[in-house]
Parts: sequence; structure tokens; C-alpha cells
Amino acid sequence: MRGLELRSEVETDKRVARDANQRMTEVGRALADEGEEPPLDFLCECGCDGRVSLSVLRYENEGGAWIPGHEPGLREVTPAAT
Ligand SMILES: [Zn+2]
Repeated sequence: MRGLELRSEVETDKRVARDANQRMTEVGRALADEGEEPPLDFLCECGCDGRVSLSVLRYENEGGAWIPGHEPGLREVTPAAT
């Protein structure tokens, strides 16, 4: 059951990252309303706890924030070693 525990931990990390990023987009949108679009430090949504710098518009276009190579689609193509 060790693998299962590990997986639910990652799922929690993903949710935490997603929540933090949602709050970040609110900050980003307020800045965008003032004509600014600075890159913000989003959490990688794969659950790895990494950071990725994106503008809020790019975050919304891509539907999330991932470090290059951590995107969910790519993870399916490359099976994890675990
Ligand atoms: Zn990641």
C-alpha cells in the first residue's frame, strides 16, 4: 500500500499547487487590468513542488502551470520509472 500512499500525497500536492495558482491568477489579473503583465511564480501542477514563471495570460491559455517536461500529456507518453 506504500505506492498508494505516495500517490495520494502527490494528488494532495497537485490540489495545493492548483489552489495557490488560482490565487496567483487573481493577483495577475488585477495587474493585467492596470496594463501590466509581469511573470508570476506559479507552482508546478504535477505536484513536484517546483516553480515556474509564467504571465497570467499564458497560465490561462495553457490551462495550468508546469515546468517544461512535467505536463500531464507528456507524462503519459513517458511512463514513470516507479
Ligand atoms: Zn513538476
